Amino acid sequence: MDPIRHRTETASVVTVGTVNFGDGSYPVIAGPCAVESESQLMAAARIVAGAGASMLRGGAYKPRTSPYSFQGLGREGLRLLHAAGQATGLPTIAEVMEPGEVEIAAAHLDMLQVGSRNMQNVPLLRELGKTGSPVLLKRGFAATIDEWLLAAEHILNAGNSQIVLCERGIRTFETQTRNTLDISAVPVAKALGGLPVIVDPSHAAGRRDLITPLALAGRAVGADGMMVEVHPDPDSALSDGPQQLDGRQFASLMDALDIHSRREEIDRIDHRIIHLLARRLETSLEIGRAKTARGLPLHSPAREETILDIVGGEAARAGLDPRVVRAMYESLLTESRSAQHRTALTAVQGGIGG
Ligand code: PEP
Ligand code: MN
Repeated sequence: MDPIRHRTETASVVTVGTVNFGDGSYPVIAGPCAVESESQLMAAARIVAGAGASMLRGGAYKPRTSPYSFQGLGREGLRLLHAAGQATGLPTIAEVMEPGEVEIAAAHLDMLQVGSRNMQNVPLLRELGKTGSPVLLKRGFAATIDEWLLAAEHILNAGNSQIVLCERGIRTFETQTRNTLDISAVPVAKALGGLPVIVDPSHAAGRRDLITPLALAGRAVGADGMMVEVHPDPDSALSDGPQQLDGRQFASLMDALDIHSRREEIDRIDHRIIHLLARRLETSLEIGRAKTARGLPLHSPAREETILDIVGGEAARAGLDPRVVRAMYESLLTESRSAQHRTALTAVQGGIGG
């Protein structure tokens, strides 16, 4: 039996303020592992906003493995996050661990996170289903993809479909990294769940040197964004220091993503240009056939001059060098003309042969 009921044909887009998950963009959620103080959070918020992050993260309630580690600032952390979000204009996200905290967290934050350790905290999932807040559901570090999607269904069935999934690494036998980022889970969960999926290389790797390559890998397999930990001074962090990026390292991650995304955009533009060129040629062949049928000459230098004038003017208005665009069009027109002649010739030969 297939346990997944909410399989959807078209993937959903989840909107948090002005940020969209699942629309082809790659929003970056960044901020410290934990909110430690007002000055630490404000410094982190300014760093991530300045380098182009889409959302601010920070833990207020920390589900630490050890009860002796820093447990977070709780409600004070929520208040500081809200203030830092207001100051930078970034939507905010933090983890909630208990159903009883959902309401207060929703009042302070733009998105609520379910941490890896709480993926199957069913009362929490049900409570999140009742809020109007978007939810980031992290994969349990020992959960299968089906279990993860079924956890999402607890939220969906309680009435909230604004869910983004987050692959944050699973526990494997490997010890070089904290967890293993399960790259294949991204396309698999996207296809099965119909929900946006982001990656969190920070908690996956546990090492800051792997963040950029894993972020690019996540994007290559179709992730809808990422989450990354950034601290103004990682060496002094109260949690997850070795995996947090400082301001300079975060800026270089954003540069790497940006160049990559510009290249993807160029590829999409070239794809459109090639198809438009093919359509242009096909249309010009239709004109050629119409001319041949009427016994008109194929070459009309006056019309070609008009076209060159039109595109030259258009190019200048668009901020391009008209001479360069005219030169490109001259070769296009030459190619159109020879294609028209080839077609006419084939038609004549076809006629003789037939
Ligand atoms: C976090 O994002 O703050 C966190 C604790 O991550 P995870 O639940 O993935 O361990
Ligand atoms: Mn952390």
